[in-house]
Amino acid sequence: MAAALGDPVRHALEAVLDAVRDRTDGAVADYIPELAKVEPEQLGAALASTHGVVHEAGDCDAEFTIQSVSKPFVFALAVDALGLDEVRRHVDLEPSGEPFNAISLDEASGRPRNPMINAGAIVMTSLMPGDTADEKFAVVLAGIERFAGRDLPVNEEVYSSEASTGDRNRALAYLTRSAGTLGAAVEVATLAYFRQCSISVNARDLAIMAATFATGGVNPLTRERVISEDAARWTTAVMTSCGMYDESGDWMVRVGLPAKSGVGGGIAAVQPGQFGIGTFSPRLDARGNSVRGVATLELLSERHGLHMLQHHGAPLSPIASLSRVEAGDADGGSDGDTVVALRGEILFSEAEEILTRLAPLVGDRGCLVLDFTAVTRVAAGARTIFSALPDTMGRLADGRSRVAVHDPDQVLGAAER
Ligand code: GLU
Repeated sequence: MAAALGDPVRHALEAVLDAVRDRTDGAVADYIPELAKVEPEQLGAALASTHGVVHEAGDCDAEFTIQSVSKPFVFALAVDALGLDEVRRHVDLEPSGEPFNAISLDEASGRPRNPMINAGAIVMTSLMPGDTADEKFAVVLAGIERFAGRDLPVNEEVYSSEASTGDRNRALAYLTRSAGTLGAAVEVATLAYFRQCSISVNARDLAIMAATFATGGVNPLTRERVISEDAARWTTAVMTSCGMYDESGDWMVRVGLPAKSGVGGGIAAVQPGQFGIGTFSPRLDARGNSVRGVATLELLSERHGLHMLQHHGAPLSPIASLSRVEAGDADGGSDGDTVVALRGEILFSEAEEILTRLAPLVGDRGCLVLDFTAVTRVAAGARTIFSALPDTMGRLADGRSRVAVHDPDQVLGAAER
């Protein structure tokens, strides 16, 4: 069966790559000679689902340096380890609307505008544990490898070039240091950051790394929890507002996927709860985003309705059926009770629907039995609404609750993933 079906998702990716292949505008990054040497025609896209399936099209094995695509992952490691409040003492979370290497610091606090531009990213790297650049980089690399689910090499040539030409980044680091936000000496922070930018990845790695945000922090292939659900959500939020440099607002309207690009030609994009996409094509537009990577994600989003804020239509009601239990029925209730079969995933709005529709049915005539057998998950925000339910609804004359819960799999009591 699988062979007959082939891989329709790969075909969809291939079709999009074919449609953008003739975009030869833009230029490969040339601020260091190693990047200028990259073969400009390379083009690849991979999609990793939250179920752990990876679909690949084009040059998905071609390696390139991760560059700024590393920034959200290091931010995620920082908030995971230190908490949001501590990280916020060092960096703001506001879109700067300025280029990646802008001297963008808040006038009053001296904090970089956000962790997706260089100033903020260098500060994030400086907060990694360790005293030396090597120690800090070891933490960064180990973290990024857990996102990717494999060992990743460092492109030493790119690293030496970045380190010998990176004076603008050093200048940014000095500014943050003088403002009191850098967590290490300038040379420690910048050398670790240059190595971080020089990690080699491919489009498949970026898809899996992005999918790890999509699952809420669990690598969908290794099943390892890499960061907390909070850290994944916070990071995806920052990617939404700040990920595409000074093109972030336009990108959100046209593509609608939280993303991060790098001057190596990579882009990692996230559809929360669904998948991650990695693209690679080295020619960049004036803002430093991969021309064909942007075109690929734009077309994919348009063709397949991937925009995060896409209207999804009326949701399936969480109430599958309502039935009265007559004498002789064995529906989980007693004679005269009403059994409400619930289904699917119950988030806040489903809980709201269930309780609003059922409130008028709670009377003296019998017990309302909420049957959670076919419910797959009750989100924490919905669970709090249900928790007080049986008691607040009072008791029947015979002492039984007016509302009872039948929850054989304990989805109401289960700890959140
Ligand atoms: N190594 C580059 C720098 O820090 C990365 C920039 C980027 O990918 O946007 O300037």
